Amino acid sequence: MKQKLSSFSNLKVLSACGLILISITACKQKPAQKTEAVKEVSAVQIPVFSGDSAWSFVNKQVSFGPRVPGSEAHTACADWMSGKFRSFGADVTVQQGTVRIFDGKSVPMKNIIARFQPEKSNRILLMAHWDSRPFADHDPDLSKRDIPIDGANDGGSGAGVLLEIARALQSQPTPLGIDLILFDVEDYGFPDHHEGEGKAEFWCLGSQYWAKNPHIPGYFARFGILLDMVGAPNAVFTQEEVSSYYARSVVDKVWAAASKLGYGRFFVYQKSTQLIDDHLFVNQIIGIPSIDIVQNDASTESTFGAYWHTHADNMSNISRETLTAVGKTVLKVIYEEK
Ligand SMILES: [Zn+2]
Repeated sequence: MKQKLSSFSNLKVLSACGLILISITACKQKPAQKTEAVKEVSAVQIPVFSGDSAWSFVNKQVSFGPRVPGSEAHTACADWMSGKFRSFGADVTVQQGTVRIFDGKSVPMKNIIARFQPEKSNRILLMAHWDSRPFADHDPDLSKRDIPIDGANDGGSGAGVLLEIARALQSQPTPLGIDLILFDVEDYGFPDHHEGEGKAEFWCLGSQYWAKNPHIPGYFARFGILLDMVGAPNAVFTQEEVSSYYARSVVDKVWAAASKLGYGRFFVYQKSTQLIDDHLFVNQIIGIPSIDIVQNDASTESTFGAYWHTHADNMSNISRETLTAVGKTVLKVIYEEK
């Protein structure tokens, strides 16, 4: 990721709808208050999510070197992740193709798709990107801006959490089928330190490809959750505007789950501006209502944190605690969805 989305034409309409929805929700909540003495009973056993294990999956990805599409590290990491998903009992497909990047060149793309309980027709889609950015266009050291970044958080963290979720899924089936997709070529957008103008369509090339060519014709999921930059220490996740526009109920569901688990300091009830990220194209092209769990750091101009698109995006910026908060929240959501 990414950049702020500059033109999102329906947002004004959306704001109006959002207000209406809030008032309806408030009405619906009244009867529930009368029954608050009734204890919530959950028959679902939610498996353990290990922050240590998730951290090790991020570390392993970074150990291959920057996963820049077309590089040896990229191929080796894709093979390792596919093997890992298979070892956890998933049905794995690697969708391969080539995509054209901002400078007109083509790069190879591998979207890694891991399916659990593929026979079930009701499904939930979990997503992250796994490629790392070929540039450090926001690094303070100008001489290092054309060197690819580790992408420990921007890329590695989301994929690491999904690998750990896959490890957990093998121990206990979910009520719905689960699809995990690691999108490729998300972060090959126009480098800010080069001359010229970036265009939104050059971000998220793997997810755009998949949304136009899903692994199963006519594929649909009840909802989607994208994880991006979910590993920084003390990360704060806000309710991003594209997510709220297309999938308000999913935002509510995820934030409520986090709150119940005591992760309110990570998942704050605060709105933030719309972003170009994989969920935008999944919403717009294939129409699966999808949200983005993505770090928001209001103290930085980018809002993504000072490490973003710099060489500081390395393993020293990855926290087991943050990975755990996100992983446990997502597990709670997918195990409780009926
Ligand atoms: Zn990025």
